[in-house]
Amino acid sequence: MSILGGCLCGKVRYECKEEAGGGHCHCIDCRKSSGTGHCSHMIVPEAAFKITGDVRFFDKPADSGNMISRGFCPQCGSPIYSRNSGVPGMVFVRASSLDDPQAFRPQMVVYTDRAASWDHMDPSLPRFAAMPSGEEMPEQVRGSARKTE
Ligand SMILES: [Zn+2]
Ligand SMILES: [Zn+2]
Repeated sequence: MSILGGCLCGKVRYECKEEAGGGHCHCIDCRKSSGTGHCSHMIVPEAAFKITGDVRFFDKPADSGNMISRGFCPQCGSPIYSRNSGVPGMVFVRASSLDDPQAFRPQMVVYTDRAASWDHMDPSLPRFAAMPSGEEMPEQVRGSARKTE
């Protein structure tokens, strides 16, 4: 399996050899960095993620206290992926940067209590008012978090 993606100008390119699901996040930081109402994150084991080109990071702590480092192309500004200090070994690829957006298989929606009313959510996905605990997460996402322990 090979999932490809990159930024708008093409200077940043990446390849994912594996993915572990993911979800949509409606938190304020995700909205402000997204260009729309939320971010869509595809979870990828770091070992299965290969990236070329310059990526600049902006660090801001989440509610949990974990540091979120959001990576973007310094040339065109496209968000590419982020890291979470509380989830080492995984990267969170922005579904917006995928060459084929259908490669993303979201499994949950989080921070729905901060969502903009105009940002429609997939009614078939489990929703969480904030960030769910590990046990509350859908099986596949939980499994990927467990691998890093
Ligand atoms: Zn770019
Ligand atoms: Zn978020």
